Amino acid sequence: GFKMGIVGLPNVGKSTLFNALTKTAAAQAANFPFCTIEPNVGDVAVPDARLDTLAEIAGSKQIIPTRMTFVDIAGLVKGASKGEGLGNQFLANIRETDAIAHVLRCFEDGDVTHVDGRVNPVEDAETIETELMLADLESVEKRRQGLTRKTRGGDKEAIQQDRLLEAAQKALEDGQPARTVSVDEDDLKAWTLLQLLTSKPVLYVCNVGESESATGNAHSEAVAAMAAAQGNSHVIISAQIEEEISQLDAEEAQMFLEEMGLEEAGLDRLIRAGYDLLHLETYFTVGPKEARAWTIQTGTSAPKAAGVIHGDFEKGFIRAETIAYDDYIANNGEQGSKEAGKMRAEGKAYTVKDGDVLHFLFNT
Ligand code: GDP
Repeated sequence: GFKMGIVGLPNVGKSTLFNALTKTAAAQAANFPFCTIEPNVGDVAVPDARLDTLAEIAGSKQIIPTRMTFVDIAGLVKGASKGEGLGNQFLANIRETDAIAHVLRCFEDGDVTHVDGRVNPVEDAETIETELMLADLESVEKRRQGLTRKTRGGDKEAIQQDRLLEAAQKALEDGQPARTVSVDEDDLKAWTLLQLLTSKPVLYVCNVGESESATGNAHSEAVAAMAAAQGNSHVIISAQIEEEISQLDAEEAQMFLEEMGLEEAGLDRLIRAGYDLLHLETYFTVGPKEARAWTIQTGTSAPKAAGVIHGDFEKGFIRAETIAYDDYIANNGEQGSKEAGKMRAEGKAYTVKDGDVLHFLFNT
């Protein structure tokens, strides 16, 4: 599955947000298999109204959303790259994530101490990014040293790695995060495997005051401007409100949201923003037993998409009976779609599209 790390300075609302995310997930546990892997790791359902619609049409007994993992990464402070706070331990946790949700304190509250004594989310973002860049620079230098023998010996893989590390080093020495390096298609896999902290896509999470979650405030506007300049995205959320909502049942939550002038829970927006950030899409498998959503990366071939369900589906892939979501709805399900000629037999070369309802045929 895909993993988002929640980072930020102390006291910005990371734990509050993480608790809200996992509590909501726990509350829905009756409907789908939920697991908390560790105290700071939680699997969260990706909200998707299409899945409920499909289940209703097919009369599916069970609805199983697709999931995304969130990791609460505490201990990031100024000097972390030099071993302050929890130091390098948490850096290892960040390395393993696919993207970073960077929580920024945008709420004023005299009772909650800010580590630097003032609320300034843009400077906070720079503080964290600087620590991550310093950590990257150190690791890049170390790794390049470790590669010299191999690159001299003409090892192709090592030469590729070293070339990418060199490009990262140049950017970092210029004070730029590794994600500013433009990487060729052929190098993408090796680049991702380097797991540089500042090469991961970033989503800024503006944690605003309780009454500001619909509108944002001056602090979140400053973050929005910074994010736009960097080409990163942002969401506005009140972690405290989200935690309150997470304790309500679905009906109460809906009423509460309406009172607050919100169309949907901030967590739903956060999860979806994470999904977009990672270029993820959803396909569905639908039957009387269950309606289920599966996550793939944009551009995934039909056999690879089948492999998300089971390795054997990919190995023995024959074809995928495919109905586009809109066709499935317009023709009231599988039978109607078939009769209307909207069920396609797609082969190995097919690129799965967001919303496809798929049925895989495979050799065992
Ligand atoms: P972490 O250190 O980043 O994990 O921060 P916490 O989630 O533990 O929050 C630190 C403190 O800030 C706690 O006392 C929270 O109740 C408080 N807090 C978190 N979010 C908000 C918010 O949106 N508004 C206000 N007023 N307080 C908040």
